[in-house]
Amino acid sequence: MKTLIIHHNDCLRHDPGPRHPERPERVSAVLKAVGGIAGTEKLPAPRATAEQLQRAHPAEYLQRLQELEPAREAGGERVALDPDTWLSAGSLDAALRGSGAACFAVDQVYAGQARNAFCVTRPPGHHAEASTPMGFCLFNHVAVAARHAQAAHGARRVAILDFDVHHGNGTQAIFEQSPDVLYVSSHQAPLYPGTGNAAEAGCGNILNLPLAPGSGGREFRDAWYRQGLPALERFAPDLVLVSAGFDAHLRDPLAQLELQEDDYGWITAEIRALAEAACGGRLVSVLEGGYDLEALGASAAAHVRALTA
Ligand SMILES: [Zn+2]
Repeated sequence: MKTLIIHHNDCLRHDPGPRHPERPERVSAVLKAVGGIAGTEKLPAPRATAEQLQRAHPAEYLQRLQELEPAREAGGERVALDPDTWLSAGSLDAALRGSGAACFAVDQVYAGQARNAFCVTRPPGHHAEASTPMGFCLFNHVAVAARHAQAAHGARRVAILDFDVHHGNGTQAIFEQSPDVLYVSSHQAPLYPGTGNAAEAGCGNILNLPLAPGSGGREFRDAWYRQGLPALERFAPDLVLVSAGFDAHLRDPLAQLELQEDDYGWITAEIRALAEAACGGRLVSVLEGGYDLEALGASAAAHVRALTA
């Protein structure tokens, strides 16, 4: 069975403006780096349906963004939702493909049509709260996918693992009262968005693993080996979702962790092995951050090679 690479060119249409780090070239770099890896198959991402989206975001939220979205493409018009987060013509189509890719990937692994999947979409999602866009994010794709797995496939327990260098405040906020979802995040602290303290535990379903600036592969692997991976194993999930950000890389300009490509290969192989033991290998990964194009491509390739191994 194959590892699906799920993408849509609508994800290139979201334009947060010149010199913004979350740029369309990110997905192009990832697609180029993972293209041709044996055992993969590329499929187009559908748009998320209103029903899928509304399991994580109220209908009024989508409606508000639709009213704000500029109508004209390539006109340079943009609306600031916060100092980092912008809406251009095409932004909502891009974000809907991101959530749709994650739901489609869940359908494919549940149908036994794929071994696992990596969604190469943008904008990212893990900072988006139910009714608040922030941190480059409009819709929380892993949250939509987790609720979709529960509603459409009867998943009782969904684990979300997040190794983006930033804490996924949106994912934590959406699930902090949901014991049927486990959220584990390793991230640099202090750093944007300021959440993710180890004391934030939700209803016992949140595990935050803050890492000091300057931490590298040794500290990262130690945190996951001692705490994150055992928590995943104890939770015995029916599905594993991964918020795969690659901005903890040494070369990344937005943070000060010092991971290298093989650290991403290692964590992916560990997560894949636990998913295979717990839930038949059902694993769906969604691209989050990663802002140095060379490091992003090499790290994503290590991630996909470990998914196919
Ligand atoms: Zn990030």
